[in-house]
Amino acid sequence: MGKRDYYEVLGVSRGATKEEIKKAYRKQALKYHPDKNPGDKKAEENFKEAAAAYEVLSNDDKRARYDRFGHEGVSGAGNGFGGAGMTMEDIFASFGDIFGDAFGGFGGFGSSRRSSRRVNKGSNLRVKVKLTLHEIATGTEKKIKVNKYNTCNSCGGTGAADSNSLSSCSTCRGSGHVTRVTNTMLGQMQTTSICPSCGGEGKSITKKCPVCYGEGIVQKDEIIKINIPAGVGKGMQMTVSGKGNAARRGGVNGDLLVVIDEEEHPQLIREGNDLIFNLFISIPDAVLGTHVEVPTVENNVKIKIEPGTQPGKILRLRGKGLPEVNGYGRGDLLVNVNVWIPKNLSRDEMKLIERFKDSDSFAPRPDKDDKGFFERMKGYFE
Ligand SMILES: [Zn+2]
Ligand SMILES: [Zn+2]
Repeated sequence: MGKRDYYEVLGVSRGATKEEIKKAYRKQALKYHPDKNPGDKKAEENFKEAAAAYEVLSNDDKRARYDRFGHEGVSGAGNGFGGAGMTMEDIFASFGDIFGDAFGGFGGFGSSRRSSRRVNKGSNLRVKVKLTLHEIATGTEKKIKVNKYNTCNSCGGTGAADSNSLSSCSTCRGSGHVTRVTNTMLGQMQTTSICPSCGGEGKSITKKCPVCYGEGIVQKDEIIKINIPAGVGKGMQMTVSGKGNAARRGGVNGDLLVVIDEEEHPQLIREGNDLIFNLFISIPDAVLGTHVEVPTVENNVKIKIEPGTQPGKILRLRGKGLPEVNGYGRGDLLVNVNVWIPKNLSRDEMKLIERFKDSDSFAPRPDKDDKGFFERMKGYFE
């Protein structure tokens, strides 16, 4: 049976964007979803066909090969699962996330079916990315060098030297499993197990690819661009799907997991989306009032210190904090005002200060407007 054109299967143009392809596949997948079409073989075929098309068109490399060579270009062991039959379990394992929660989880479904041919999945890779507060404030694009397994270009991931040395496994006839019937006291028992000749892949290679020695993957450095949204925080993890290790002899790529780390800012402390700056002013400035510069993530801003500012006063600069990740709004910059009390004074300075000892204005008194320290603190960190 000839295969239908993958673009036709998904109903998209050849110039379709990744987003359009994803949307089209989601539509098809939901339409032919087995939960919606129980027992309908035709729907299952359509469901698998759409998955095979999406598997190729959603991957830049495979799509390029498909555009140039058609189905031949992507018919390696792991790539041709539309033809050889990607199982429902494989589809859900690879693309299950595309359904979101439209069907409320697939645990029971996938596991209720036997995988007829194993599809390898490459392992995930984890990298740590350290960002400055400035990068966190604006969002950034990072290029990371990752040493990982990529699909072997020479054999297209099949592991075979050429198309003549790749054939269906003769032991299992390409199905990937063998069935044995044994006679027991209770009658005939049928057991199915993974094919010992091909390890479940359904293919047999007579001459291995000389570049990857039949593995279908080669290890090399790759520069991967990662777009990091503004507002991320230490310990957050982003998943770049399909950018992990390629699977042995085709199959599904693992994911690249990016763990965010934060570089300490020399002056600003982060508290959620708010930033805190610990400001020290002199006694005269606290008494007489002044203008001072305080740092924000981007630049310095000038703020006014009112005459008679008490130490412990917190000034809130609205919107000068960090942006909400994946959202609107920004945190604030909280300036904690301290008054610097000098320790080593000259004799003259001492004398000067002593003159204030008997001053009535310098005698401490409770602030009548102070509704209580703890109440205030709670308000600042709402
Ligand atoms: Zn190779
Ligand atoms: Zn086999």
